[in-house]
Amino acid sequence: MGKLSRSEIVGGDHIYSPRRGYDHHGIYVGENQVIHFTSSPQGTFSASSSAMFGPCSVCGFHGGMSGVVQTCLDCFLDGGDLHRYKYGVDVLLTLLSPRRKTHTSDSPEIVIQRARKLLEQGFGKYDTVSNNCEHFALYCKIGRHISCAQVESIIANVGVSAAGFVINPLLGAGLLSIYAYRRLRTDW
Ligand SMILES: [Zn+2]
Repeated sequence: MGKLSRSEIVGGDHIYSPRRGYDHHGIYVGENQVIHFTSSPQGTFSASSSAMFGPCSVCGFHGGMSGVVQTCLDCFLDGGDLHRYKYGVDVLLTLLSPRRKTHTSDSPEIVIQRARKLLEQGFGKYDTVSNNCEHFALYCKIGRHISCAQVESIIANVGVSAAGFVINPLLGAGLLSIYAYRRLRTDW
């Protein structure tokens, strides 16, 4: 996934920007604005970020803000590259609905609506593993709370499963067969 120029993104896109050790995710809502979920104050943005020193002159964002925030694209990127998250072909999402070949995003209008609603209501307590910026963006896109990191661990588990089946904790009682795994693996 190569980096994009700003003119290539449209409202409702799930975008992300590589940070040191992780990617920061958000929903682009148009007009240079991004709604995203940030960790505790100063935890998400680099020390060199202008937002650390005072409110951004464009959007008013500053390093003391956390939770679901709406900022300008520059504050979201924090000097990093711009990327778009792939839907419709993402094997990790496909794994969550084994009967479907792909998992697609809801319409941009619905995605933006969800992001705006969460901006008002919040997205709960930030947790690096179970409730982070990526979960927030995925939730806005598909209306469900899932974790790609968790799915990756499922893939790892399937790979070593001697029983031939693995319980998918994200779907509760759902079972994911080795067959499905192989099929998806081929698609990867
Ligand atoms: Zn800003």
